[in-house]
Amino acid sequence: MKCPYCGSDDSKVVDSRPTDDKIRRRRECIRCRTRFTTYEIVEMPLLMVEKRDGTFEPFNRSKLINGIFSAIKKRPVTIDQVSQIADHIENHYANALKTVARSSDIGGMVLKKLKEIDSISYIRFASVYRDFTDIESFVAAISELDENKKISENAEKGVRQED
Ligand SMILES: [Zn+2]
Repeated sequence: MKCPYCGSDDSKVVDSRPTDDKIRRRRECIRCRTRFTTYEIVEMPLLMVEKRDGTFEPFNRSKLINGIFSAIKKRPVTIDQVSQIADHIENHYANALKTVARSSDIGGMVLKKLKEIDSISYIRFASVYRDFTDIESFVAAISELDENKKISENAEKGVRQED
C-alpha cells in the first residue's frame, strides 16, 4: 500500500474497524508520518453446487441450514451446532480453494457431523438426503449407525476395564 503523499511502501496500521461489508483501516506512513485511510473488502469465493441431476446452482448457506433444521426438529441439537456444521462445510471448500462442490459430498459431510451429535437427526437427514428408495439402503444406514454404537460402547468398556 503506497503512501498517497510520499509514495513510500512502508506504512503501519494504527486503527482497524469493520463497517458493513468492508474493513476501514487508518494507516500511518513510516517515512513521512502522514495518516491515510484504506478500505478492505471481504471477497467470498463463489461456490457452485453440482446436483445429482448434473445441473449447477450457487451454494446457499440458508438452504443448507434449512435442510439440517428439518432433520433436527424437536431434537437436542442447538442452533450453534447447526451453524458450526455449515461453517465446517464452507471452510472446507474455501480452504481447498474449490469452486465446485458435489451436493452428495456436502450431504455426506452433514451426515458425518450429525452422526457425532444425534443419531435420530442423522437418520432423518439420511432418509431425505440419500433418497431411500428401497428398504435395503435404509436398513444399511441404520446398521451402519449400530456398528458405530458398538465400536464406541466397546471403546467405553475398554476404558472401564483399565480402571
Ligand atoms: Zn508518506
